[in-house]
Amino acid sequence: MSNLSELFGSNVFNDFVMRERLPKATYKAIKKTIDEGVPLGQDVAEVVASAMKDWAIEKGATHFTHWFQPMTGVTAEKHDSFISPTADGKIILEFSGKELIKGEPDASSFPSGGLRATFEARGYTAWDCTSPAFVKENTLFIPTAFCSYTGEALDKKTPLLRSMEALSKQAMRVLKSFGNNTSKRVITTVGPEQEYFLIDKEMYKQRKDLVFTGRTLFGAPAPKGQELEDHYFGTLKEKISAFMHELDMELWKLGVSAKTKHNEVAPSQHELAPIFSTTNIATDHNQLVMETMRKVANRHDLVCLLHEKPFAGVNGSGKHNNWSMTTDDGMNLLDPGKTPHENVQFLVMLCAVIGAVDDYAELLRLSAANPGNDHRLGANEAPPAIISVFLGEQLTDILNQLKNGCAKSCIQGGELKIGVNTLPALPKDSTDRNRTSPFAFTGNKFEFRMVPSSATISKSNYTLNTIVAESLCNIADRLENASDFDSEVEALLKEMVVKHEKIIFNGNNYAEEWIEEAAKRNLPNITSTVDAAKEIITEKSISLFKKHSVLSKAELESRYEIMLEQYVKTINIEGLTALEMAKRQILPAGIAFVQAVADSVNSVKATGIDIDISAQTELLVELVGALNGLKKEIKELEAVIFKASEMEDDIYKQACCYRDGVFTRMNDLRAYADKLEILVDKDYWPIPTYGDMLFND
Ligand code: ADP
Ligand code: MG
Repeated sequence: MSNLSELFGSNVFNDFVMRERLPKATYKAIKKTIDEGVPLGQDVAEVVASAMKDWAIEKGATHFTHWFQPMTGVTAEKHDSFISPTADGKIILEFSGKELIKGEPDASSFPSGGLRATFEARGYTAWDCTSPAFVKENTLFIPTAFCSYTGEALDKKTPLLRSMEALSKQAMRVLKSFGNNTSKRVITTVGPEQEYFLIDKEMYKQRKDLVFTGRTLFGAPAPKGQELEDHYFGTLKEKISAFMHELDMELWKLGVSAKTKHNEVAPSQHELAPIFSTTNIATDHNQLVMETMRKVANRHDLVCLLHEKPFAGVNGSGKHNNWSMTTDDGMNLLDPGKTPHENVQFLVMLCAVIGAVDDYAELLRLSAANPGNDHRLGANEAPPAIISVFLGEQLTDILNQLKNGCAKSCIQGGELKIGVNTLPALPKDSTDRNRTSPFAFTGNKFEFRMVPSSATISKSNYTLNTIVAESLCNIADRLENASDFDSEVEALLKEMVVKHEKIIFNGNNYAEEWIEEAAKRNLPNITSTVDAAKEIITEKSISLFKKHSVLSKAELESRYEIMLEQYVKTINIEGLTALEMAKRQILPAGIAFVQAVADSVNSVKATGIDIDISAQTELLVELVGALNGLKKEIKELEAVIFKASEMEDDIYKQACCYRDGVFTRMNDLRAYADKLEILVDKDYWPIPTYGDMLFND
């Protein structure tokens, strides 16, 4: 299509539009705010608002909304129209600087984890001008942060923005100590690869578990799964291809640089990857990607499942969070570069990340925890719950050289060479990669592979930014005070390798032996959301986030509450859905089929012919056995849901009861239901099977 370049970003109030439509002085002022964080004057806001309104109306907008990301993890919007009545009974269209900068949605119905009690219900949204506004469905969307009236973050964007500041500050200190006088800021960049499933809408509607929980709570495996490996990168079916095409077009209009699309490993599973951008924009765009996937799928009579584990027995979905740090003048700090000087700086940055991941493995694990991911992490699927770093042979070897101190003899002509003249070109080829590692270096960036497919990437990234900021801070403290810079760098690198090499693992992360080996290395292995949650409120976590002004103690405590509350609510909904399906669909189907088989037994007997009816009688015995088991488990599940729901005084204990009681009982119930599924006549079975849903074309 020839006008693709016109289509891209056509609904975005981006730099190009601003340059065209804003007076020069206003444009300069807003750029200074966007690029350097200089506070925005009211007069500038008025001019921007007016230009934004005119532009949006030309694009068909009648309303505007502050678009924010409350702790629910999804986005929120409240639309206001531009209209303002005049005395003569007409209207004019208005949008003020004040309305652009600040909104006041009622905060009381969003999760606040106790912050609400302390700080009143009121909250406000504040324009984040670093993420461009856009028009969608006749509304101007303005990306905003969402805070309580006293400034506590009630959302997922605020800590992300704060963490980007923190990282920039500390990384700049390190760069300055390396003599960099040109860069002004360091920006973290992210390219999130999004996995998802597409299934037929009609079948979806027949599955209450998918409707209420996003995953199947029942379902015997289909005869075929993913074992033939014929879906990964396979030819796109027409229907899927049409969906993907429309998805791309919609995303491009919104300025989302959707780049790569392909079939994934599991049947009916696919992936979309955009070109990376700053963490903040990448996070907003990922929300748009997820939302647009759902909407476009619906238009194609499909449903997009973003849950981490919609189907047992085949791969679940995640997000590969590709992450790096870049200076405002375009230097990727995780790119080894070509000169020895660049190489040393690269090694310092690399070790900063490795050190951060080792020191704060628990927090990083926590950042990827949600109930859906509990089915993946630590449950024999990619990646494991144990955090480790993959570097590849070459880099690991270089770090070993650093550790063994051959560096000293290599300092020549005042130039630090730390054991290698220049680093060899590192492979960026995906074939060399270790696909089982949760945190892999991939040539010029790290790929954090644990991030849950349904969640915002904000949490993983503000955690990553903050732990790396801390690591860089410690490095800067050393380098700024060094009397001999070169030998200090050398000593520092050596110490860091010695201290943190335990986190490096290049082998197969799925192997049993790795679990044992990791335990020997004292690496944490946190297998559930409930256990991970506690890591938010440890002394270590509180002092880290406070030091870098990312989250206060009160904010962390509220996040802990919310995380456990959401866990409890999620498993409760799953438990109730399982009960409803078991009692009202599966049990009756089983009984009806038992009746049919029993009738057959009686009919044959009634003929009076002496005939072997062991087929029917054996089946009858098996069926009734499974039905009894199912009924027993229904009662058990009912009891444990009741017990868990009563434990309201202690959210942690309650969450444990949902995990160890309700969740476990749901699986026991499922075992009987799945057994019945393969015994009962297909015509009697009330819900689409795995085979129906996953192989539907
Ligand atoms: P893969 O083989 O994993 O698909 P790609 O090279 O296609 O590898 O990259 C995957 C993602 O990484 C893309 O979204 C890409 O834009 C992103 N990416 C590349 N470079 C960087 C970087 N410096 N910082 C962050 N993300 C990056
Ligand atoms: Mg990848």
